[in-house]
Amino acid sequence: MGIATVNPATGITLKTFAPLTEAEIEAKLTLAESRFLTYRQISLTQKSTWLKKAADILDEHKTKYAQIMTTEMGKTIKSAIAEVEKCALVCRFYAENAPQFLANTVIPSDASQSYVSYQPLGIILAVMPWNFPFWQVFRFAAPALMAGNIALLKHASNVPQSALAIEEIFLQAGFPAGVFQTLLIGASQVAALVEDDRVKAATLTGSEAAGASLASLCGQNLKKTVLELGGSDPFIVLDSANVENAVNTAVTARLLNNGQSCIAAKRFILHEAIASEFTDKLVAKFQNLNIGDPMSENTDIGPLATPDILEELDKQVKKTVKLGAKLLIGGQKIAGEGNFYLPTILTEIPQNSPGYRDEFFGPVALLFTVKNLDEAINLANDSPFGLGASAWTNIPEEGDRLIKEIEAGAIFINGMVKSDPRLPFGGIKKSGYGRELGVEGIREFVNIKTVWIN
Ligand code: NAP
Repeated sequence: MGIATVNPATGITLKTFAPLTEAEIEAKLTLAESRFLTYRQISLTQKSTWLKKAADILDEHKTKYAQIMTTEMGKTIKSAIAEVEKCALVCRFYAENAPQFLANTVIPSDASQSYVSYQPLGIILAVMPWNFPFWQVFRFAAPALMAGNIALLKHASNVPQSALAIEEIFLQAGFPAGVFQTLLIGASQVAALVEDDRVKAATLTGSEAAGASLASLCGQNLKKTVLELGGSDPFIVLDSANVENAVNTAVTARLLNNGQSCIAAKRFILHEAIASEFTDKLVAKFQNLNIGDPMSENTDIGPLATPDILEELDKQVKKTVKLGAKLLIGGQKIAGEGNFYLPTILTEIPQNSPGYRDEFFGPVALLFTVKNLDEAINLANDSPFGLGASAWTNIPEEGDRLIKEIEAGAIFINGMVKSDPRLPFGGIKKSGYGRELGVEGIREFVNIKTVWIN
């Protein structure tokens, strides 16, 4: 697929874009390189002012930006508005906290004075996915720009208008031209950028395959990477849990963003004592959802972002059922225009099926029943991924074991996994490495320089 806006609710191509030529990319790199020399001298106070202005622009035009996202990738308009608001939040968070996060850390040693200083690296390449077209970019860009870096964005090919709108926001906010640039390029044009000496590091949010490809290129060129990749988060409900609360949260946690979130709850691991109650309630809730036009305020579930994602999800479901899983609800595409898939629940999922091991990127809940906490932990960890985990229990000792033993970058007890500008975010295992957000996020793309003065 080329670079284009194709409305996933109708299948209609609304706008196409020619990828940048080599000469156009060179011009942008030249601008980025020269801009770094001046931008790194800009005070944190000035950068904070610009970032706060970006937040104001986001808030002021949130409906316009939300409509761009909904048109390009099908998220419901209410969730798109919430996404723009969260972008404003992360801008304000780093505008206010970066000075403290980047202040020198004094460490007494044999020197008369010794400390750690956090200095910018230069041009950072960000390869981003379509599922949260604004949020993924802002959570990288807000700290990166505050740290004095320069950003080059290669966004997913199906969200070009989101990518261009984001560049425009930074320009309007006052950031000098070249501090943040969008490159409308295909995935095959990324390698040359990574190999360019002017690009100092890269971050990728997306699939395991794309992450591995970028990381190996960066490895060959000795460039730092942060990878935020896929997930198949467990959502464990133990027998002491408040089942009503857990089910209500489960619906949101699985279906957020039409089911296309890396930290969506994907595998529901249920204690046998509450499994049938949880399952019946979940089925009832899935049956009551409004599926349709994502631009409508009343819609709960819109289309999947592309026909390929729809086909892939349908294949995974059909194969899992063929291998023995029981289909409780859904399990098929919705006929007619657009990439719509019925909210689906599968149970009795065999170990050799995609439902056991693969990431399902759509509105499909995978249910498993376990006899006790040990089985729950083993099953949760029997996954190549390790992004987030949610666990429901009212027994503190069970919570303690889950916190210690679940293999994931984050665990939420009696709540849904979510990102928060104040807390670090990232995964382990095949979900990637490095962290975004919090103080850890802003320190990923800096030169942690040791200063020793006699
Ligand atoms: P994707 O196909 O990997 O695409 C992500 C980005 O990588 C796009 O910009 C894509 O460009 C680019 N890309 C693809 N192949 C590449 C390659 N070989 N070299 C360089 N760049 C390449 O992923 P997706 O399908 O858009 O996103 C879904 C995946 O992202 C899921 O697995 C999801 O869990 C994960 N995700 C993770 C997080 C997290 O924070 N951990 C957050 C959101 C999503 P093109 O569009 O031009 O192909």
